[in-house]
Amino acid sequence: MWFMQIVFLGLPGAGKGTQAVSITEDFDVPHIATGDMFRAAMAADSSLGQEVREYLVKGLLVPDELTIQVVRDRLQQADTKNGFLLDGFPRTEPQAIALEEMLREIGKPIMHVLYLQVPREDLLQRLTGRVVCSSCGTSYHVTLNPPTHGGICDRCGAELIVRKDDTPEAVAVRLAENFERTEALAKFYEQRGLLRTIDGTQSIGHVYDAISNALQEAQA
Ligand code: ADP
Ligand code: AMP
Repeated sequence: MWFMQIVFLGLPGAGKGTQAVSITEDFDVPHIATGDMFRAAMAADSSLGQEVREYLVKGLLVPDELTIQVVRDRLQQADTKNGFLLDGFPRTEPQAIALEEMLREIGKPIMHVLYLQVPREDLLQRLTGRVVCSSCGTSYHVTLNPPTHGGICDRCGAELIVRKDDTPEAVAVRLAENFERTEALAKFYEQRGLLRTIDGTQSIGHVYDAISNALQEAQA
């Protein structure tokens, strides 16, 4: 039986969501992205959605307690039995500590933390040119990674939209909110011997190859 508990660490725009599509297909594990879960809750106008909206729109982090509870509930679901890929969680040290505790409880420790490293200067360009699928969430970029058919998703054919928090103002807040915390988390996982740093400035295909190689080496 194949188990794979992976975390993608990286600043907003580092390419986590882009790479998660192929890596979760390769390993047949669910893609658990807290940002996607919060946006789905907002679209459904659930009580969670109402609670998190003000944070997402401004680019601020959702409080730890709420975020941890959302992930705790998600990890109870049956589709995580052979593993999962966490994208955008943890983003703070309290979240990382809570994650260790919840995974200890269910006997599925983190196996690999892939840190997609991209300098801040590149992230502004990536995020302000990003368009995402309104249905499946796939990320594109108007010039760096354009969809084949204009404003339509290559994977599912739905309409592409610009995220409300991909404005220059919200992007600046998000990078400021996440910069030191991401560095701190990289150290946290390095101390545990789990960190694999990937040069995220390479082409999408080369980043994918680097992640696949790192995962295969670690399995060997
Ligand atoms: P994250 O999930 O880490 O916030 P995304 O995967 O949504 O980031 O990628 C952010 C933007 O950068 C998107 O517009 C995406 O198309 C683009 N992108 C992702 N990976 C690369 C890459 N290796 N080179 C250039 N652009 C990329
Ligand atoms: P993302 O889709 O990963 O860029 O996340 C979008 C937004 O969701 C962030 O700017 C935060 O407001 C919120 N969010 C996502 N993940 C977390 C997290 N682990 N902790 C706190 N807030 C988060």
